[in-house]
Amino acid sequence: MHSAPDLFSYRKHWAHKFGTAPELPISRAEMDLLGWDSCDIVIVTGDAYVDHPSFGMAIIGRLLEAQGFRVGLLVQPDWTSADDFRRLGRPNLFFGITAGNMDSMVNRYTADRRARSDDAYTPNAEPGRRPDRSVTVYAQRAREAYKGVPIVIGGIEASLRRIAHFDYWSETVRRSVLVDSKADLLLYGNAERAIVELSHRLARGEPIETIRDLRGTAFMHRGGAPEDWTELDSTQLDTPGPLKLHNDPYEDDPRCEQRAEGVPVVVPTPRAERDRTVIRLPSFEQVRDDPVLYAHASRVFHLETNPGNARALVQAHGEREVWLNPPPIPLTSSELDRLHELPFTRRPHSSYGEARLPAWEMIRHSVIILRGCFGGCTFCSITEHEGRIIQNRSEDSILREIGEVRDRAPGFTGTISDLGGPSANMWRLGCRDPRIEAACRKLSCVYPDICRNLNTDHGPLIQLYRKARAVPGIKRVLIASGLRYDLAMRSPAYIRELVTHHVGGYLKIAPEHTESGPLSKMMKPGIGIFDRFKELFDRYSREAGKEQYLIPYFIAGHPGTTDVDMLNLAVWLKRHKLRLDQVQSFLPTPLAIATAMYHTGRNPLKRVSPNSESVPVVRGMRQRRLQKAFLRYHDPENWPLLRQALKDMGRSDLIGNGKRHLVPSFQPPGTGGVPEGRRAPVKTRQTTPARPGRSKPTRRRPV
Ligand code: SF4
Repeated sequence: MHSAPDLFSYRKHWAHKFGTAPELPISRAEMDLLGWDSCDIVIVTGDAYVDHPSFGMAIIGRLLEAQGFRVGLLVQPDWTSADDFRRLGRPNLFFGITAGNMDSMVNRYTADRRARSDDAYTPNAEPGRRPDRSVTVYAQRAREAYKGVPIVIGGIEASLRRIAHFDYWSETVRRSVLVDSKADLLLYGNAERAIVELSHRLARGEPIETIRDLRGTAFMHRGGAPEDWTELDSTQLDTPGPLKLHNDPYEDDPRCEQRAEGVPVVVPTPRAERDRTVIRLPSFEQVRDDPVLYAHASRVFHLETNPGNARALVQAHGEREVWLNPPPIPLTSSELDRLHELPFTRRPHSSYGEARLPAWEMIRHSVIILRGCFGGCTFCSITEHEGRIIQNRSEDSILREIGEVRDRAPGFTGTISDLGGPSANMWRLGCRDPRIEAACRKLSCVYPDICRNLNTDHGPLIQLYRKARAVPGIKRVLIASGLRYDLAMRSPAYIRELVTHHVGGYLKIAPEHTESGPLSKMMKPGIGIFDRFKELFDRYSREAGKEQYLIPYFIAGHPGTTDVDMLNLAVWLKRHKLRLDQVQSFLPTPLAIATAMYHTGRNPLKRVSPNSESVPVVRGMRQRRLQKAFLRYHDPENWPLLRQALKDMGRSDLIGNGKRHLVPSFQPPGTGGVPEGRRAPVKTRQTTPARPGRSKPTRRRPV
């Protein structure tokens, strides 16, 4: 793995003499109180300001403050003119622009493209406080307000729109957000390393247009690869048509197996060469017009996500090109610890008074223990944003933060609501050899099976849970983050510990489906593992004398899902006496592999060609509603729709009033008029951030 300077090793900017702000200023008056005549950096964000490490603007703002910069926050500005963008004055170094913890389109619209009635990242959940495609709009306004100030974009929206991408809300392939926003630089993924280095270099007087070497950045470019670089056409790596033999980057890498047998890993292309190699993806115009090339580009893009071996990418947009440097180097535990222990107030900005801020209420008593996910679920964009190498906090730092929550978090009554991250049980898990990890090209460490090189020892996590419970003043520690239950099955002792001490009556897990067709497109394990997990869950709950339940999550409408698949899932739910309250439709988020399937009807997990495997895709609202209705087969509102579908499918045998029937033949008076997808959007019960690929936000760490 490449190395990087320690995040906190830079010489501080001179403005550190102003000290630490009690809260980062969001107004001129607050800047005056701090004695500032100007900000070095102004962060523009679509979210309200919560000074907590779960919120992007706070973690980046406090990190830059720790580097000595004066950071002001322009939160939820009025975007209808440039006036509000002058609120904090002209920044000395740059505007840092983010949509917030969620993509603005996911934040504002449901999977049925209906406007949401609330926004969990706004005081009192008031909707309408951010524009569609916020990054582009904010960038335009900031430029109008102060010409010549560099514009740097980042956060999940910019990150997932860094190359040409399918946009579900407009049903078009859109250009990279770099083109539309005209930003000078895009920071993708977790951007701490890039933004710290960038800020110090700008402060030293380097023009932003010359800063082209930072990992995790993208920029507009002209003139092809520099002379000392090698340019490869992506079709040399993977054949999008019947051209010639290709390398399958998703096949098991034999080097992993060789290593397991004790044979040294051999990286075929020397690192020095890889570092000077750029892969040319099909242009925006090509992927816009040709679904096969879109799927091919998606496939090659996802291959280049491991910071240990990823190469630069370039994609033409007309006369110009979007150049993507390789992904950022993951943070060390020490860096992540210090980041989380910056002087956050851990609460919303004082100007919000008593206003409710649901996103903060959700996480204020929880502690993040890791970043990243090696699961590789195709509907989820965490890998594209955070990477699949787990970045762990140290045990000591986590325990210190539990003490902070106990002592400082408003309303704390002794229960830590979550110790987690993108996945609850990946803490301290990872590839057992860093050299293998750096050479690996696989998209998932757990699909189709758990890799033999993966360390699955849950022992340290069990010890962490025990120590967390023993912190004075802590009555309970719950685990609310998603559990990777196939991984947990490697450690019955972990499941026992979890079930005995950390389940608050219900444990949410995500099999996502029961049928092999959709599961193979999601890269999720078979439902048999769920059954085995449930056996252990029930047994350990009984032994602990607790009545506890599993709440399984399923997705309707995922690429690869037929109506018959949904029918089989509904029958499975009925057989298991499961009646789901909240159900979800697949939401194609930019850049996810499943989104490429949705748009192209091809499977980028395999070689893509005009004749390669086609994937069934659920497109029309009627079919989306029907698939969702199968998940709520017990809801009388859905019965007319389901009866008709069962008849059309030749399954009238499932209509009737017996136990073996799915839908009754009678209809209760006053019901049946508003099936799934025809109801007013409900207020989202939770908030942090939308898990990409799902229709509603679920409880996830903001990214
Ligand atoms: S554990 Fe993960 S990184 Fe390591 S070889 Fe297996 S798939 Fe690759």
